[in-house]
Amino acid sequence: MNEALFHDGEFLLPLLRSAVIPAEFRHGFTTRAGGVSEGDFAMLNLGGRWGDTPEAVAENRRRVQRAAGDRPITVGTQVHGAAVVCVRAGDDPAAIAAQQADALCTNVAGAPVGVYVADCIPVLMADVRTGAVAAVHAGWRGSVAGVVPAAIARMAAEYGTQPADLRVALGPSIGVCCFEVGEEVVEAVTAVVSDAVAKRVVRRELAKPHVDLKLLNWLLLEGAGVAPEHIDAGPECTSCDRARFFSYRRDAGRTGQMMGFIAAGVAASAPPLLEATASPTSP
Ligand SMILES: [Zn+2]
Repeated sequence: MNEALFHDGEFLLPLLRSAVIPAEFRHGFTTRAGGVSEGDFAMLNLGGRWGDTPEAVAENRRRVQRAAGDRPITVGTQVHGAAVVCVRAGDDPAAIAAQQADALCTNVAGAPVGVYVADCIPVLMADVRTGAVAAVHAGWRGSVAGVVPAAIARMAAEYGTQPADLRVALGPSIGVCCFEVGEEVVEAVTAVVSDAVAKRVVRRELAKPHVDLKLLNWLLLEGAGVAPEHIDAGPECTSCDRARFFSYRRDAGRTGQMMGFIAAGVAASAPPLLEATASPTSP
């Protein structure tokens, strides 16, 4: 992941971007930096349901929308499932937001789709041949339900997407270092993967089992036909890095939400993103 700074003269918004996704796909993963929220939600909380003030959330969302090309970022109601919703030209974002969907896809040029996260994996996909994109919310339940392969299958059905044309970035999420689980999670994971995959994904070196969600989804992507050189999974662990990321697990639910977003095609009217080498502002 590379750090980029979005600014339009009014505010600075650091974003993490993936080098495997071509520049014509406007995309980013937010961090805690660049917003106006305070306390447990400092600073760029995008979630509206965990107790932050609506005014702060609205301002934070406005800033991310600016960075996404100043068009509404379409999101769904996330329920840790595998339902995929396709966004078409003229769709009302409010109507889509009311639908249960942990994956959204679109091929409307410049239209961004997004997912909220705070430990779960934000997965962004770009089809370099058709210009179609998807944003997927993959926690352990969604991963077990197959939300990532479901999004690829839906893109194939809707847009003719071929796995060889996909570029996929797995954003900041809870690492295997911190994702201690109970045996019921181990059972759910091992029920849907081969023994060889289960051996790599479920780690038992410590007293309690840990699950490597990023590796699980990487292997699911490979299984769906995506080339490993077209997959990007940063090492960032949301739980380990308190200064940069919100973490639901670490903060016992008293935390904010981040977002991954990606727009189909080129957002010609939007200000450019500036690649930056400096670290984002600490919250
Ligand atoms: Zn960690």
